[in-house]
Amino acid sequence: MSTKDIINEKFHLPEVTDKCPGCESKERMGMAIIDELDKLGVIKKADFKDGLVFNTPLINQRSMRVITTNDKEVSIISIYWDVCKSCKTMYATKIEFNTKIMRMPPSGMM
Ligand SMILES: [Zn+2]
Repeated sequence: MSTKDIINEKFHLPEVTDKCPGCESKERMGMAIIDELDKLGVIKKADFKDGLVFNTPLINQRSMRVITTNDKEVSIISIYWDVCKSCKTMYATKIEFNTKIMRMPPSGMM
């Protein structure tokens, strides 16, 4: 069993909420902004299908070796979030644990 499977099973991830924990409204400010920017052609809504997200790589912050090694699998926790249009509460809509392959950009790109 992989680390990803163990974490997801132990913490019952992905954990998903579809309404504000404060007032139970399903009206989301972030998704409304995404819709508007999609209509204006600024972004593609398909790129934000789960909304806004914070991605945090779970690496030893004292060792930068992981980001200088190509094809290194890194654990990532993703917190999808939004703000309630009614009461302005910020809340997580989905919490997910995954692994992603980190690749160095071609030389000259950094
Ligand atoms: Zn609310």
